[in-house]
Amino acid sequence: MKAAVLISPQDLSPHRLRISEVPKPELKPGHVLLHTRACGVCRTDLHIIDGELPPRQEGIIPGHQIVGEIVDGATTELPAGTRVGVSWIGGVDGSCWYCQHGFENLCDSPTFTGYSVNGGYAEYALARADFVFPLPTALDDLQAAPLLCAGIIGFRSLRVAGIEQGERVGLFGFGASAHLAIAVLRAWKCEVYVSTRGASHRQLAAALGAAWVGKETDRPPAKLDRAVTFAPSGDVVVAALASLRKGGIVAVNAIHLDRIPEFDYDALLWGERQVRSVTNMTRSDARDFLQIAAEINLRPKITIFPLDRVNDALAALRNDLIDGAAVIAL
Ligand SMILES: [Zn+2]
Ligand SMILES: [Zn+2]
Repeated sequence: MKAAVLISPQDLSPHRLRISEVPKPELKPGHVLLHTRACGVCRTDLHIIDGELPPRQEGIIPGHQIVGEIVDGATTELPAGTRVGVSWIGGVDGSCWYCQHGFENLCDSPTFTGYSVNGGYAEYALARADFVFPLPTALDDLQAAPLLCAGIIGFRSLRVAGIEQGERVGLFGFGASAHLAIAVLRAWKCEVYVSTRGASHRQLAAALGAAWVGKETDRPPAKLDRAVTFAPSGDVVVAALASLRKGGIVAVNAIHLDRIPEFDYDALLWGERQVRSVTNMTRSDARDFLQIAAEINLRPKITIFPLDRVNDALAALRNDLIDGAAVIAL
């Protein structure tokens, strides 16, 4: 099968994924084999490719927002031909303290799709049968792909920030995840304030119903109840804290941050403000979000690339040139 393979994170050429012919994965017990139809491109792919996340597996095939059709390993619950999604969490051990206490997102030995096992930048992908999610029929393959990490983890961020109906919420950064989160927030009647760099990202935020839109250095004109940061930058976390009312929460939706700069405790954290990280996702986050996405008729804004141009898609994401989400069509 055709696949995009990461040869070495140390290779700093612009074409770090090599399009190659590799063996089709063999079915394993408890797994399903998917014929891939689409795979979303995520910022985490850049962290993997750039070596900001330590390598887990030589010659990995990245991609963890897979839309595929079951072609082998079908079960009664998952008949052949079922269209399913696969996300970043490809499996957990089920036995550690976290798994046994409802925090499978924090599992001590998780499997990460496209990082510790091969992912979806390939014509076929293997996935654990208990970690695939049947997809709402209303969404086509390409539009369903960005829901699977950008969407689900964006939704988890809203939960971690403790957002309630009608609150004032700041989104700092406006990429794939934020552009899906705003749709959920609007459905919850929240007032959304967006700070982001890039005029086209600001235009998209305004078009999607933001009450206020500013540059990344602009301060929202009202105190926020909650904020979610999406940029891999600690400066942005501090900017979000500075915009928060007492008792408010900043959820940091980033698997990697450059660092958090020193900040003034008395002015920014005192007053029971909280900073919380958002780590991975649970299967119930996935199911709940996919159901909400179907109910509110969520339609991601996507830019489509063929598999042969996956490096171009990643470069565009790196340079902030994608409005909404990039998706590889197979
Ligand atoms: Zn576990
Ligand atoms: Zn992701």
